[in-house]
Amino acid sequence: MSSHTYDYLDGNAAAGELSKVFSMDVTASQGQCAHCGATRPFAEAHLYMLCPGVVARCAVCEHVLLRLVNVRQRVFLDVRGMTYLSLDTPQLEASNDLDP
Ligand SMILES: [Zn+2]
Repeated sequence: MSSHTYDYLDGNAAAGELSKVFSMDVTASQGQCAHCGATRPFAEAHLYMLCPGVVARCAVCEHVLLRLVNVRQRVFLDVRGMTYLSLDTPQLEASNDLDP
């Protein structure tokens, strides 16, 4: 057993936090790691929830993909670890149908 294992969840566990910022389900998106170039479903990211927010790391290289921190009445979102996120447009149309 490794002496430095950290408990993480998969990217799906970020759905609640990310839904505060995005109307679309980011966990259903594909994202490219800015560090190693791997393109993977966000749901496969390694998610760490030990801080006042969440940190998602690349499942391939463990580079930070996304950080979301709640501080008082603000949410800070850092996504510089991803080159892009790609989401299916049917999701956009579905979210437009939601009641306000
Ligand atoms: Zn990576």
